[in-house]
Amino acid sequence: MSRIAYVSGAYVPHRQAAVHIEDRGYQFADGVYEVIAVRGGKLLDEEPHLQRLHRSLNELRIPAPMGDAALRIVLREIVRRNNINAGIVYLQVTRGVAPRDHAFPKSAKPTLVVTSRANRRPDPRHWEGGIGVITISDIRWKRCDIKSIALVSNVLGKQQAREAGVFEAWQVDSDGRITEGTSTNAWIVTGDLTVVTRAADCAILNGVTRLAVLDIITREGYRFDERPFTVEEAKAAREAFLTSTTSDVLPVTRIDGAPVGDGNPGPLSRQLRAAYLAHAAIPT
Ligand code: PMP
Repeated sequence: MSRIAYVSGAYVPHRQAAVHIEDRGYQFADGVYEVIAVRGGKLLDEEPHLQRLHRSLNELRIPAPMGDAALRIVLREIVRRNNINAGIVYLQVTRGVAPRDHAFPKSAKPTLVVTSRANRRPDPRHWEGGIGVITISDIRWKRCDIKSIALVSNVLGKQQAREAGVFEAWQVDSDGRITEGTSTNAWIVTGDLTVVTRAADCAILNGVTRLAVLDIITREGYRFDERPFTVEEAKAAREAFLTSTTSDVLPVTRIDGAPVGDGNPGPLSRQLRAAYLAHAAIPT
């Protein structure tokens, strides 16, 4: 079956899907995106993803390309046409096509692109043994709360992690505090079993997985604190983990090559992973 993409009003073969070279997404990274998990053919946490999409669009003053009812239909139609059971939907909205000029065009129609693909097979070693992260300087802009398609710093960070043979790079602000990964949120568990993650300020993306895990933490009555933590505190933590739509909850067992705790996935990370998978209706 050939893949189908949605591009501004039309369902087209993925191979031929294209936008104009003067699309402001291509010229200026002037756009936003969302990645929504598909589980059992259904969209996981669609509501908070659409809320975050609207927030990002509003912050950049890009009009919504269509109403939510129509958008929900397009998302489902792309999942259906690509016959996706477990995977992701990617959606991107840019300010549209206009002659190149930094200021907003007087009239441009936002470009909406939606694609979907099956999950890559997850590596069980990632949750059985945990993953490693390196710490790098956070060189991004000051509005990381917007899910902007301007991701070149994240690209460089992830590549650095890849070259260091680890899963992720945790970015560190000028005060030595961890902001987040290049495509994941960062968490630690302190010696007194408090789960700590940075509050959703402008230095991080408020992950939908982060929100789901915070809900679980509240529901289950775990101690938690939304505050920044330093690299030193992370290295001395009892446990660490990361969250994202494509990674779920993954234990972090090495930071800059040094073991976290005893170097194995911690019990709280395991429990939160299991509870999140139950929320996402994936058999554990
Ligand atoms: N932070 C960044 C920088 C990200 O790119 C992502 C994933 N898009 C996340 C955190 C995790 O967000 P979510 O849980 O919504 O996938």
